[in-house]
Amino acid sequence: MKQETLVILGTAHGANVAGKRSPDGRLREYRYSREICREIKRALDSRGVQCVIDVEDDNEPSLRWRVRRVNAIVRASGRRCVYVSVHVNAAGSGGVWRTASGFGVYVSPNGSADSRRLASLMGIIAVERRLTGNRAVPSCRYHVLNLAVCRDTVCPAVLTENFFQDNRADVDWLLSPEGRAAIVSLHVDSLMLYLTELRGGSTTVSGK
Ligand SMILES: [Zn+2]
Repeated sequence: MKQETLVILGTAHGANVAGKRSPDGRLREYRYSREICREIKRALDSRGVQCVIDVEDDNEPSLRWRVRRVNAIVRASGRRCVYVSVHVNAAGSGGVWRTASGFGVYVSPNGSADSRRLASLMGIIAVERRLTGNRAVPSCRYHVLNLAVCRDTVCPAVLTENFFQDNRADVDWLLSPEGRAAIVSLHVDSLMLYLTELRGGSTTVSGK
């Protein structure tokens, strides 16, 4: 019998990283990401999906440290894993409100077919649910960007940018019960579809 896939949720940054907040300070990316990861985990747990969070406390000594930690989880598990790093986007720095809005999902240039499949499922659902704001959505429904947590982790990996912390309407929505629920269910529903496809046995057991 095939072992079930382990979902590894990645929190964003640490409390020590400068910026990474809304101009009015209501939303801190590290904190919001940790809250959302806990809610996603709760929802996956209730559906019988094994799930861990890579960094639950408020610190992230370095990105390289986080990647090592994720890879240690993958190797210790001895099973197929998938990594989802949960972030909130920013259109600029300097603590001013800007206009970019909406959800986007990323894979690294070395992303496998599995990474790209999960990203496209997330992108397709985001478009269906009108969550992409004023962002241009590529025809494949995901973006390709050289991100360390996707590039250097040893399992399929995607990174989600959940709306913009420097867009006032996005922040209002992200902090609302409806916004939180929509972000959580976008992740949970995409992952459930992805895992169902894997159970169909059409993809490889391991690798990037
Ligand atoms: Zn981030």
